[in-house]
Amino acid sequence: MPELPEVEFFRHCLSQGRDNSPPILRENIREAELLWKGALAAPSPDEFLARVQGQTVERIGRRGKYLLIHLSEDTLVLHFRMSGEVVVEAQTEPVAKHCRLMLNFDDGIRLAFNNPRKFGRVWLVADPEALLAHLGPEPLSDAFTPERFYTTLQGCHRQMKYFLLDQKIIAGLGNIYVDEALYLSKIHPQTKSDTLSFEQAELLWKSIRQVLRDGIENQGTSFDWMYKGGNYQHFLKVYQRTGEPCAICGTPIKRITIAQRGTHYCPSCQTLSEK
Ligand SMILES: [Zn+2]
Repeated sequence: MPELPEVEFFRHCLSQGRDNSPPILRENIREAELLWKGALAAPSPDEFLARVQGQTVERIGRRGKYLLIHLSEDTLVLHFRMSGEVVVEAQTEPVAKHCRLMLNFDDGIRLAFNNPRKFGRVWLVADPEALLAHLGPEPLSDAFTPERFYTTLQGCHRQMKYFLLDQKIIAGLGNIYVDEALYLSKIHPQTKSDTLSFEQAELLWKSIRQVLRDGIENQGTSFDWMYKGGNYQHFLKVYQRTGEPCAICGTPIKRITIAQRGTHYCPSCQTLSEK
């Protein structure tokens, strides 16, 4: 959290603008302010501050849950981990309590990286592809096909919750969208990946893309302090709905812990077959 749809919404806001916050394309960085050094993964703070100064924002991208701000020389890569957002605002605004990094632009606006839980990280790199080479395919891209997905499923013997959270397998899914996609596909989160049939794999492939597209359309999912922009929380079927009736069969939604994450599912619709 934020997952692919939330980061995609940040990408959209930074490149297109939103309400009172303008886009940051073609903005020139007058100076950066590092309010918490721990947020910077690379390079060193001194090198970062010197190098980023004077660069211009050329393009905003996303890869999995990473937000990419392509500058004239380098790329600023942001990962939010547990919490946070990016905000474009006037430099006269008070600085948010959880702001870790600010880019002050020439024309009086700034980009603030707010990250309450402090797990988020920032990199300034010449080649973002090298940094992100470990990531699996983008789930909404043409490269992610049912056939490829089925082959990957067959290649390992792991519980589906672990499998789908693994960024090396698919880039961008987290706890919320994994629980929702498994529910739509009627697959128990502890099902072993190599026991799925091609039909199940294809349905799951479709469900993953559907929940992500719905999430993007609703500007992501909001949960109190974690991220505030979106509306998708109103459409979630199982995530954080423990005890509420399943929309299909009425059975109360159950919560178990897998991979140290709260995992939500319908015990009637998503049964575990012994294989
Ligand atoms: Zn059900």
